Amino acid sequence: MAPEACPGCKKTAGRKRWECAACSGRFCRDCCKRYLLPEGGTKQVRHCNACFLKGVNWDASRTYDVYGPADGRPVLMIHGAIIGRMAMVHEARAMAEQGYRVLLVDLPGHGARFAEKLDLPSALAALEEVADKEAPGQKLLVAGFSMGGYAAAAYAAAHPERVAGAILSGCAHDTTTLFWTAVGRFADVVYAACSYKTKSGFITGTFGPYIDKDMVHESLLRAGAEYDQWGPCWRLMKACNMKALLPRVRCPVLFVVGASDLKTHEAAFLKLLGPRATHLVIKDGLHTWPYQPAVLPQYRAAANEFAKAAEWGPAGAKA
Ligand SMILES: [Zn+2]
Ligand SMILES: [Zn+2]
Repeated sequence: MAPEACPGCKKTAGRKRWECAACSGRFCRDCCKRYLLPEGGTKQVRHCNACFLKGVNWDASRTYDVYGPADGRPVLMIHGAIIGRMAMVHEARAMAEQGYRVLLVDLPGHGARFAEKLDLPSALAALEEVADKEAPGQKLLVAGFSMGGYAAAAYAAAHPERVAGAILSGCAHDTTTLFWTAVGRFADVVYAACSYKTKSGFITGTFGPYIDKDMVHESLLRAGAEYDQWGPCWRLMKACNMKALLPRVRCPVLFVVGASDLKTHEAAFLKLLGPRATHLVIKDGLHTWPYQPAVLPQYRAAANEFAKAAEWGPAGAKA
């Protein structure tokens, strides 16, 4: 008997089918692997791609959101690995309240761009696309967290003509090391062995006592995550050779590390940045500090002070 075609992709490959909890359709894994907490629900359930895009708490018809006043100075905010633009929604709102116009983007492989291939060139192109559209001729501030911090450094190095300042957070490890290679391989094995549901539990389970449940709910459980993107994310971070990138970053930098985060190369990176860098160590900050309400005032005060003093103005000529 020929296997039934998957109603999502119409392919017949593989006999195993997974049921979507929302529409009860039966799909191949790729069309039905994402877990989402339904609105008003109590647990994450498997969704087919169509139901996932209907059920998420972000607008799936667009690849970025804009927060803050139309005449605010532009900030390009870049999420970390696995979770799309909702990962940084709380910081986007906080900067918008200070009068900035925050462009909260999805990188390829994430959020509304989940079907796109993620690598460093595609990430930089996605950022440039939004910058060109929303802030033509203007300098902007880039603010990136974790993988987004590496991407922000790469963007600042590639576009010195239009970056007024860069907030680089949670990216104080040199990703060209053997240790990083081992981290990537280990995560590959663990991620291959676990379901999306189990992986979603890692974040809430590991950091449970310190992070805010409502923030995680909004940024992760109701937003969905892209665990199959771990490989491309890890390779993107590896492609961001900070020792080569940071000397090419010409703008002021706010270099942010959580006191308890991985920060093996903090001193080396600061040395490369020299007097351009302002250093913030978040007291009691983990890698997940954006979801630790107790430490956020430290970050927000420093980010506001830094943004005020950035090198704003018209974008210069492309180098
Ligand atoms: Zn399919
Ligand atoms: Zn469905």
